[in-house]
Amino acid sequence: MSKEFEVVVIGSGPAGYHAAIRAAQLGFKTACIEKWLNKDDKTVYGGTCLNVGCIPSKALLDTSHKYVEAQHDFETHGIKVGKVGIDVPAMIQRKDNVVKQLTGGVAGLFTANKVEGISGTGKVIAKDKVLVTGHDGKQEELLTKYIIIAAGSVPIDIPPAPVDQDTIVDSTGALEFQAVPKRLGVIGAGVIGLELGSVWSRLGAEVVILEALDEFLPMVDRQIAKEASKILTAQGLEIKLGARVTGSKVGKGAKKSVTVEYTDKNGEQKATFDKLIVAVGRKPYTVDLLDPAVGIEQDERGFIKVNDYCETSVPNVYAVGDLVRGPMLAHKGMEEGIMVAERLAEQKAQVNYALVPSVIYTHPEIAWVGKNEEQLKEEGVDYNVGVFPFVASGRALAANDAEGMVKLIADARTDRILGCHIIGPSAADLLQQAAIAMEFSGSAEDLGITMFSHPTLSEALHEAALAANGHAIHIGNRRRKK
Ligand code: FAD
Ligand code: NAD
Repeated sequence: MSKEFEVVVIGSGPAGYHAAIRAAQLGFKTACIEKWLNKDDKTVYGGTCLNVGCIPSKALLDTSHKYVEAQHDFETHGIKVGKVGIDVPAMIQRKDNVVKQLTGGVAGLFTANKVEGISGTGKVIAKDKVLVTGHDGKQEELLTKYIIIAAGSVPIDIPPAPVDQDTIVDSTGALEFQAVPKRLGVIGAGVIGLELGSVWSRLGAEVVILEALDEFLPMVDRQIAKEASKILTAQGLEIKLGARVTGSKVGKGAKKSVTVEYTDKNGEQKATFDKLIVAVGRKPYTVDLLDPAVGIEQDERGFIKVNDYCETSVPNVYAVGDLVRGPMLAHKGMEEGIMVAERLAEQKAQVNYALVPSVIYTHPEIAWVGKNEEQLKEEGVDYNVGVFPFVASGRALAANDAEGMVKLIADARTDRILGCHIIGPSAADLLQQAAIAMEFSGSAEDLGITMFSHPTLSEALHEAALAANGHAIHIGNRRRKK
């Protein structure tokens, strides 16, 4: 038996559900296949992002941040609270409730937009045919004009630390601890390592992060990365760089621990933890997804090969999100999903890959868009830099949240904004203002002549833009201009 559609999307993560909803809005008869089952064995939409990624991690980051504030910061504000405690199962339950609300929201959006949600595993068996295998094993063929593959990614595992989701966990397991581990090891000082390491450190765990590279956050502007290292270390994260994990042994008994062996510049080392999080990156998920006879090409790392418009090597078959090149970020996949749907409707949509914002949701947040100083130096571009520290921001001081800085980089010749790099309170939201200016080819002067409400954290961006041209008001200027 087969059903007919115009667009079939495989996967309902941020890339897939955006593609499906936009395609349906544009009048295509659209289906979205999803295989994810939640803890109650119910199909849930939203993929990694809503179920075990962006949203649950931010729920725990927000709870743990409030805990730190209640423990340490309220007193500075003159607020007296009794002894502060943390109920971990209640925290996890709240996180699950947020996830439930949002995944249910996607189901509602599918209904409202007439996207047919189909439960099961999809496989591309021809350029116009997808085979769906239901959880009961029943199979059904979907005939379609266009296929959009959005099957996402899964954590990378490493042989020296095999994940058992009990003592050694990946990011999914690290969202489910029912008690604060006394000693927590993390392999990988990337985005997940820092975010989830922060969650459990704030709640009282001694956290040691083992990072193979010698450099901390190599993708981040050096000045910002240095500041981040200083602040996060002061918060209690012990970050060991140049630490290569060679093996691990899980102890026996009810209260298991794990001993990790690693080498660093001083030779062979050992450390014992109650829990170990492996966060060494993610890989595209294409298991049993593509019939090789269809000819959809993949690169040597398993990513589906696409061009700038997310077209695969097979006409009318598209791929979006984590399983194609580029950063593995929810918003990048969302934009790709929308672009593909709009191009199917013959609209001239495109994604501006030069302006994908990145955020690490530690506190303070670390956020960046565009080029950093190191990249511009390498490209030989002449630039001006404006830096404004939050300690000079009235609003940040009023909130007792004044660590970090805004750094704006503009082309020395044209003044066009080339990059913005922030570590500080609400960095993610502040960065977006620079991203908008950059999307419209704005200059540092454009931001400088824009009126910003006072007192806001955004004024730090305003002042950084003024500083790029040597006329910041609330700090001394490195460059002097009339
Ligand atoms: P996914 O979200 O992985 O969705 C793919 C979907 O396809 C899944 O639901 C899967 O079940 C389904 N699927 C796979 N194969 C099949 C098949 N054959 N048939 C049917 N269905 C299938 N990104 C951010 O931008 N900001 C953040 O703050 C952030 N935080 C994160 C925190 C953590 C802990 C993690 C792990 C990731 C985080 N990310 C974040 C990354 C973000 O989650 C991913 O970039 C994003 O979810 C990718 O979207 P996607 O639609 O490509 O794939
Ligand atoms: P990552 O690539 O950010 O960091 C992985 C880190 O592990 C790197 O620093 C790498 O050098 C290190 N590493 C790799 N192998 C190692 C080994 N054997 N021993 C020690 N260190 C090792 O990956 P991640 O933190 O796992 O996150 C996966 C993806 O999810 C990322 O692409 C990220 O973009 C996305 N994500 C995004 C957010 C966000 O946007 N805030 C949050 C979480 C995850």
